[in-house]
Amino acid sequence: MSGPGEFELIERYFNRPVREPGVEIGIGDDAAVLAVSGRIVVAVDTLVAGVHFPDDLPARAIGHRALAVNISDVAAMGIAPRWATLALTLPAADELWLDGFAAGLFDLADRYGVSLVGGDTTRGPLTVTVQLIGDAGDDPVLARSGGRPGDGVWVTGTLGDAAGAIAARDRHRMPVPDALEQRLQFPEPRVAIGTGLRSIASAAIDISDGLVADLGHVCEASGCGARIDAGRLPLSAALLEAEGLESARSLALAGGDDYELCVTIPPALEPDAQQAAAAAGVSLTRLGELCDGSGIRLETDGVPYELAAGGYRHF
Ligand code: ADP
Ligand code: MG
Repeated sequence: MSGPGEFELIERYFNRPVREPGVEIGIGDDAAVLAVSGRIVVAVDTLVAGVHFPDDLPARAIGHRALAVNISDVAAMGIAPRWATLALTLPAADELWLDGFAAGLFDLADRYGVSLVGGDTTRGPLTVTVQLIGDAGDDPVLARSGGRPGDGVWVTGTLGDAAGAIAARDRHRMPVPDALEQRLQFPEPRVAIGTGLRSIASAAIDISDGLVADLGHVCEASGCGARIDAGRLPLSAALLEAEGLESARSLALAGGDDYELCVTIPPALEPDAQQAAAAAGVSLTRLGELCDGSGIRLETDGVPYELAAGGYRHF
């Protein structure tokens, strides 16, 4: 961002004291210097206003969400995030907006021990890019490609809630149920269960584009297919109440934005997975299993289940 105010803005909103011992140099120099113990895991995601989130989303939610989607990506690799950089494009230096945005971002960062170590600030249409770095040391990581026929397909939490909020917004039905709007505005990245399953799950992905689309990526990368029982989808009471069973199922299968994890687990390790879920305080639901072949077969009680829409497509 040109003109006066840029450095003040960075100082005021983003340059916070960093206690992380791995940060040798943080905000304020030409680049950050980070001490790692082994391999690093890096993810970056961009959120464009009006494209990746509704224009009227509160600033606090945008700050949370921009970081949450990246924490979720790193968590889906089975690794805890440590450092973030932030590229922020703003139409104006609106202090009220920046207050909210920084509060949302740092509340979440503090909860997961993530330090903001650098970034860039420019003027233009509201766009937020966060890059996240984790230090994997010598630990195994959870790739999409590790699934094998016979492994169970499991998901964390409940699915379809954020999509339910968007559906309610699109219908202009006011008010959007609080529990659903909360899932849309403040998705909780599944770090504890992601890292807890690091040595247990065979593959993992975070559900950003919808279960069918994202499990499809696991199947493709793992060279197998999947059978999913739509009757087992974990649906929240709020979603069922707002949408009814059929619509709730479609939203859970095709709607993204919840940032739950979908993991595949070898049958012999199911007890360990249950234990990891209990330790993380997150529910883990078995939806079906990977099988030979390709593609995803949806069923309810053995009867083929038709899904109208696919996952979110970026282009
Ligand atoms: P440079 O011209 O060297 O790129 P900048 O003026 O872009 O430097 O940034 C100055 C310092 O502030 C750098 O350390 C940069 O990482 C940091 N920074 C800039 N914008 C942000 C931001 N939005 N969040 C965090 N750090 C930022
Ligand atoms: Mg710069």
